[in-house]
Amino acid sequence: MASKAVEAVLFPGIDVRVERVCDSIGVLVVAVSTARPSRCPDCRKQARRRHSTYQRTLNDRPLGSRRVVVRLRVRRYFCDRKSCFRKTFVEQVPGLSERHRRSSTGLTGWLRSIAIELG
Ligand SMILES: [Zn+2]
Repeated sequence: MASKAVEAVLFPGIDVRVERVCDSIGVLVVAVSTARPSRCPDCRKQARRRHSTYQRTLNDRPLGSRRVVVRLRVRRYFCDRKSCFRKTFVEQVPGLSERHRRSSTGLTGWLRSIAIELG
């Protein structure tokens, strides 16, 4: 499947660019955030300086019976507000990633709706 098609199916309206897709036992999607610089989660100041990048691994909604894993490259930013306790923070991609979660936002919502349906 072409990267643009994967973006349209898995990440509609989400600021990521798919770089690679591997489909063997499960589906591995390598993607990079294209979102604008984030705001500090503590003081809400808009980030201006990038600290580094790193790769997060997120479980996403399955495609049929196949597990989907997203390797998402995100950016760490400096918070430049002198009075802020936080010196760096990692961006979150709205609609895809949340702090401290190993599941995508879509998978979390999907599992929640199944639990409600069963409960
Ligand atoms: Zn801050």
